[in-house]
Amino acid sequence: MIVILLGAPGAGKGTQSAVLSSRYGLTHLATGDIFRAEIAAKSTLGEKASNYVKAGKLVPDDLVTEMVAGKMDVAAGKYLLDGFPRTLNQAQSLDQTLAKNKAGISSVIYLNLPQAEAMKRLTSRRICASCGEVYNVLTRPPKTEGACDKCQGKVEQRVDDSEATAAKRLQVFEDLTSPLIAYYKAEQIFNEVDASKRPEEVTKSVCAVIDGLQVKAGGV
Ligand code: AMP
Repeated sequence: MIVILLGAPGAGKGTQSAVLSSRYGLTHLATGDIFRAEIAAKSTLGEKASNYVKAGKLVPDDLVTEMVAGKMDVAAGKYLLDGFPRTLNQAQSLDQTLAKNKAGISSVIYLNLPQAEAMKRLTSRRICASCGEVYNVLTRPPKTEGACDKCQGKVEQRVDDSEATAAKRLQVFEDLTSPLIAYYKAEQIFNEVDASKRPEEVTKSVCAVIDGLQVKAGGV
C-alpha cells in the first residue's frame, strides 16, 4: 500500500503521518525531514539542498527523485509519502518507478487548508531542536518559554517558517504542487479531507479513507 499525503505547508501532513504510520504499519517518508537531516549532517546532498530549503524554494526534481528512489524499496511497498511528490515531474517519475515494479499508488489524500490558516499555523509553529516535538505559540506553547516539555531541548522557529519564507512556500505550493490535484483526480485515486478541523477529527477522516482501501483490497 502506498499512500500520498498532499497538502500545503502547514496543512498537518507531518502530524497526521506520525499517527497513520504507526496505526497502519506504513514507512513514513518525509522528504522535508530527510533534507533537514542531511543539511544538519552537512552531507553532499544536504549542501546541495540547503539554499533551496532555507529560501522556501523546491529542491530540483532530479535531486529529489534520486533521493526518494534510494529510500524506497517498492517491492516491499508499504509507504506513507509526506511532501513527495511536489511537482508534476516528480509525480510522473514516481509513476514510472512504480509501473516498472508493477506497483501503484493506493490513494492520494489531499489535506485541504485555506492559505490564511496555513500561514497562521506556519508562523506560529515552533519545534524542539533536540527531539523534534512540535509546538505552537498560539495553541500549544511549551510550559517554559523556549524549552521543550519533553526533553528540555531548545524550542525554536524553523528557518523557513519566518513570515516571508512561509509566504514563499505557500506560493510555491499554489504554483507547482496544486496542479497535482487535477493529475491525481484524473487517475481516480484522489480523496480530499478538510484539514482546518482539529487534528483528531482530521485523523478520523483520513483513517476512513485508508480503512476503505483496506476493505477493497482485503487487508493492507
Ligand atoms: P517540508 O518540511 O515538507 O515543508 O519541506 C521543507 C522544504 O524541503 C521545502 O520547502 C523544500 O525546500 C524541500 N522539499 C521537501 N520535499 C520536497 C520535494 N518533494 N521537492 C522539492 N523540494 C522539497
